[in-house]
Amino acid sequence: MKILVPVKRVVDPDVKVRVKADGSGVDLANIKTSINPFDNIAVEEAVRLKEQGIATEVVVVSVGSTSSQETLRAALAIGADRGILVETDVDVQPLAVAKVLKALVDKEQPRLVIAGKQAVDDDANQTGQELAALLGWAQGTFVSKLVLQKPDADEITVSREIDGGLETLALKLPAVVTADLRLNEPRYATLPNVMKAKKKPLDVVKPADLGVDVASRLTTLKVSEPPNRKAGIIVADVAQLVEKLKNEAKVI
Ligand code: AMP
Repeated sequence: MKILVPVKRVVDPDVKVRVKADGSGVDLANIKTSINPFDNIAVEEAVRLKEQGIATEVVVVSVGSTSSQETLRAALAIGADRGILVETDVDVQPLAVAKVLKALVDKEQPRLVIAGKQAVDDDANQTGQELAALLGWAQGTFVSKLVLQKPDADEITVSREIDGGLETLALKLPAVVTADLRLNEPRYATLPNVMKAKKKPLDVVKPADLGVDVASRLTTLKVSEPPNRKAGIIVADVAQLVEKLKNEAKVI
């Protein structure tokens, strides 16, 4: 069973971003980037399935600029077998990514796609769902447990994190699954594996080679910083706290 894992290059979640002075976006010059954390979890899950003898090949795909090759190499260092960069300088939106992934699924014929539940830069949470819709495949989103019994299974069981509990679903394969935080704890890539990853195959194609137009359909009107929080106060006692909650905050 071949598994396809889309991985996005995002601003490192530990970096504090700054909004450009003209409000046109976030200043990305010389900023540290990394693999989207949920995609790291997705790669780890696919690699574990390969180690269990269930998956035969793990293919990682990124849609983005040349620099996304680093992101693919990071996924190859965790244990993926092969990378595909769909190279474009367009700031791609989820529907464009889903169309690119659909074209690659048609070509590569995986039986399972494991994506991240969302990219932590735009927080769109759309690509996996859109891909499943374009393919007409089953989907399991926000997955915190995935059970695949054997390579030729025609069903996969997933647990989904929903409000107040877990929902367990059986999905007919082929399917699209999106990884939530608790699915696993990704390993750190060892130095030998980082070195090995440099030699793994990585193809570069353009969206037009796949017949996909990735032109933007949305225009960003304005990006602004969240308002500064007001300073807090220390109250003398519970009576004063209740009085302030009642008369100032008006929440009780
Ligand atoms: P989003 O819908 O943008 O929140 O992204 C959800 C998931 O789709 C991510 O966690 C990735 O697995 C995948 N994805 C989104 N954008 C890209 C991209 N440019 N290249 C590869 N995968 C992507």
